[in-house]
Amino acid sequence: MTGSETAQDCIRLADRPVVVFLRAAIWLLAGLAVIALPFAVIITSRDLPAPVALLWDFAMGCGFAALALAAVQFALTGRIKLLTAPFGADIIYVFHRFLSWGVLGLMLLHFAVLYIWYQPALGDLNPLSARWELTIGRFALACFVLLIVTSELRKWLRLDYHWWRVMHVALAVAGFAAAVAHVLGVGKYTGADQTRALWLGVTLVWAGFILWARLLRPAILWRNAWRVTRNSAERGGVHRLTLRPEGRPLRAWKAGQFAWLSIGDTPWAMKEHPFTIATAPELGPEIAFAIKPLGDDSERLTKVKPGSRAYVDGPFGTFSVDREADAAGFVMIAGGVGITPVIANLTALQARNDPRPVILIYANPTLEAAPFREELDALAARMNLTVVHVLETPPADWRGESGYIDGDLLARHLPEQTRHWPHMLCGPAPMLDATTAALRQSGVSARRISFEIFEMV
Ligand SMILES: Cc1cc2nc3c(=O)[nH]c(=O)nc-3n(C[C@H](O)[C@H](O)[C@H](O)COP(=O)(O)OP(=O)(O)OC[C@H]3O[C@@H](n4cnc5c(N)ncnc54)[C@H](O)[C@@H]3O)c2cc1C
Repeated sequence: MTGSETAQDCIRLADRPVVVFLRAAIWLLAGLAVIALPFAVIITSRDLPAPVALLWDFAMGCGFAALALAAVQFALTGRIKLLTAPFGADIIYVFHRFLSWGVLGLMLLHFAVLYIWYQPALGDLNPLSARWELTIGRFALACFVLLIVTSELRKWLRLDYHWWRVMHVALAVAGFAAAVAHVLGVGKYTGADQTRALWLGVTLVWAGFILWARLLRPAILWRNAWRVTRNSAERGGVHRLTLRPEGRPLRAWKAGQFAWLSIGDTPWAMKEHPFTIATAPELGPEIAFAIKPLGDDSERLTKVKPGSRAYVDGPFGTFSVDREADAAGFVMIAGGVGITPVIANLTALQARNDPRPVILIYANPTLEAAPFREELDALAARMNLTVVHVLETPPADWRGESGYIDGDLLARHLPEQTRHWPHMLCGPAPMLDATTAALRQSGVSARRISFEIFEMV
């Protein structure tokens, strides 16, 4: 930042709170419009059958609403940057999860009302003798039930993440295709030009999303590969991979964002994992990821050799100081490898000579296991940064904080004026829960607390 520049000048127009709010509102309205569209088209078309009975019409309405909501799901998970930007990818996934329950609830209602009050209309349940269009409707319902069960109970069922993901996509595609076939086969609302155009449009848009997410987007990644230039061991078992773009560098990248990284597989293999870009755009176009081996794939990534080809899909996410142009200062709280988005944000603030104060509370088992310890010392020497290390198992001569982060510890290091600063948290889930509760108790409003959650799904 030069003398005449302020923090506001470093923030893009699209990241200013009012613009973010407007974009979010527009997307929500667009979502509601998509859900209402089938009803609007059917009601205004000449295809509308005479009202049969309230319950029957209600059951039909539930079926169409379920289909419209299911179509929205493909847009939510298509990694469309314009859509994820105002909300953040983690919020989009939470939304996706709750909407899935909505889809299933509406489908079950559709089926249950017909089953209880109009059983003859359902015909034979035996798939060998039943009408195909009804069997395929029941198949769609089974796909959506399986989708929810395998997602909600993935860890309990010990499903491998990669295979769960492949199955999730397959079930979603099969379920949606079956639901559209059911509507067309039953043929109740497909007689008029408008309704035929509606179902054709729904099918084309849906196929377009799948084509984009599973074929075209990976093809763009393939043409814009990256090369690993360094793999260095950090503290705490973390490895830092540095990557150079061989094609297009990252665009519209904000400090603290993450990207989906894939090395050793093609971009079509669905083997990518989300990692924070642990450096700042100011130091680009090279990027770095700091990876802790927490499972098979992250372990493999920590061992890749310089020269390996990589694919980087991003950037995504909202855990950025760029969202906080008006902040007087920042409180950052990190645990272990959760330091990665913090390092990225601090690096950006330092590169811009941003004078605003930052208080970082950083928890680790020991000082030796604290990733980026030396880098934090170097940053603290060059910017307005106070680092408070909290050690779970400190050595006998340790004079600093020890144990877990709690309300008393926060009160010792966060003076009254910090209550209104943004509080940016990243670390293990129990730490985030306990710290959030302590912050809320000390008077920090929920609006001032943001997280980067590493277990998004
Ligand atoms: C926004 C974000 C940023 C992250 N940044 C970092 C970072 O900077 N450094 C770091 O070490 N870790 C980071 N992680 C965590 C990292 O993505 C997981 O540790 C990694 O994906 C584990 O994969 P695995 O196959 O090794 O382990 P597994 O044992 O297969 O998976 C462990 C858990 O990781 C999650 N996970 C696995 N694969 C994926 C995937 N493809 N997409 C989403 N979640 C998945 C699932 O919750 C799974 O249960 C981040 C996660 C998120 C969501």
